[in-house]
Amino acid sequence: MIDLKNYEVWFVTGSQHLYGPETLEQVAADSKQVAAALSEKLPVKVVFKPVLTTPDAVHSLCLEANSAPNCVGLITWMHTFSPAKMWISGLLALKKPFVHLHTQFNAEIPWAEIDMDFMNLNQSAHGGREFGFICSRLRLNRKVVVGHWQDAEVQSELSVWVRAACAWADWQGAKVARFGDNMRDVAVTEGNKVSAQAQFGFDVYGYGIGDLVAAIKEVPDADVDKLIEQYLDEYDVVPALQPGGAQHDSLREEARVENGLRNFLAAGNFKAFTDTFEDLHGLKMLPGLAAQRLMRDGYGFGAEGDWKTAALVRAMKVMNAGMEKGVSFMEDYTYHFSPSGDKVLGAHMLEICESIADGKPSLEIYPLSIGGKADPVRLIFDAQTGPAVCAALMDMGQRFRLLVNKVEVVPTDEPLPKLPVARALWKPLPDLKTAAAAWILAGGAHHTGFSYSVTAEHLEDFAGIAGIEMLLIDENTSLRQFKQAARWNDLYYSLAANRLA
Ligand code: MN
Repeated sequence: MIDLKNYEVWFVTGSQHLYGPETLEQVAADSKQVAAALSEKLPVKVVFKPVLTTPDAVHSLCLEANSAPNCVGLITWMHTFSPAKMWISGLLALKKPFVHLHTQFNAEIPWAEIDMDFMNLNQSAHGGREFGFICSRLRLNRKVVVGHWQDAEVQSELSVWVRAACAWADWQGAKVARFGDNMRDVAVTEGNKVSAQAQFGFDVYGYGIGDLVAAIKEVPDADVDKLIEQYLDEYDVVPALQPGGAQHDSLREEARVENGLRNFLAAGNFKAFTDTFEDLHGLKMLPGLAAQRLMRDGYGFGAEGDWKTAALVRAMKVMNAGMEKGVSFMEDYTYHFSPSGDKVLGAHMLEICESIADGKPSLEIYPLSIGGKADPVRLIFDAQTGPAVCAALMDMGQRFRLLVNKVEVVPTDEPLPKLPVARALWKPLPDLKTAAAAWILAGGAHHTGFSYSVTAEHLEDFAGIAGIEMLLIDENTSLRQFKQAARWNDLYYSLAANRLA
């Protein structure tokens, strides 16, 4: 569903006319070579753009980028000195994210050969500083990547930023379908949808659950049959749910719901959705398997009306596209306090994405302890182990905050034969005591986007592009410094709202 190859990033080189046409030709040739090499390594196509040498050319390029739908942003490079007043009008008009690649065409100094021509051609060292000054002077968010362009770490840092830029592009004009409203009385899943649209670019469309029920009723039996075949093929299905089993009708109902949801979301071009167990009028049960499978296919999801987490999970799905491990909606559910190490058991009532499953999921049916509806069908599995992140997006009133915790997913100490949901067990970094205190002091939500391949660095770049705060809880977190950073950020983000150009 998500293919980053539809996107491109523009490679933009700054220079000036002072050096004469011969040098500019060399700058262009070098830039083409760098752009082509990066195009091989980054997750999107890198498009070379003519070298910029005047304020008008910079301004035109920025306007062109703004209106190019496939362009997720700019990689900027100052091959030579490029006087930065010529960048002011363009950068102020630019609506797309940009990264400053502080590189140099030549890697090592040719000690025996170096002369002033070489120095003038390869002067990113101070050209990049002039460009950096004007970006900081204008308070522009950007990532700065330093190193030789053939270096694997440099390419990796650029790739991370490109993925964040793709997720940002995906959010612009994106639609989140919200079936029913918020779970009654819950605070953190609420927020200002007008502020979110202005800040983030996505729009939340509310629907009565009856609109979804109508779409589900239209699903032909043949489509239900097809989906049942897929279920039987893809999962270990318990006997009660198999054809002829006592609860097979529940599986057929879930297949009908999945088809109806899929059709509704596709027809409206939605990228994410929410539901709530408190508003299921006309539905026989809370969608479980359907939500799990739609997430697997790239949709963002948030339970209990949580549209912010639904949008965040979608953004993480885009950042994750083509990478090995999965992304899921998640919730910190219960703790394991133990001398052998404190841990968190993450799960939800049903809706954990199968993309994080370790092995083939089991398809089972159990009652839901709340909501008073029929028993929902759900996939049950243990999550893959390894390093991962939990990320939450909160509306703090005047602004949004992204909060990220690095965690280590570990095997469960013992099997969980009676737990009827998919789950992940993890040790938060630096330890549960510090991480949970920091998370709670930061007002962190109980719902999160959970991922292995999307890292804190992707999320940091994404927050930078979005112009919002990101607080990170990791192996270096000290609670005292974390509290101070949160207070300083409160001040900074209040001031930054009134940017002085
Ligand atoms: Mn929940």
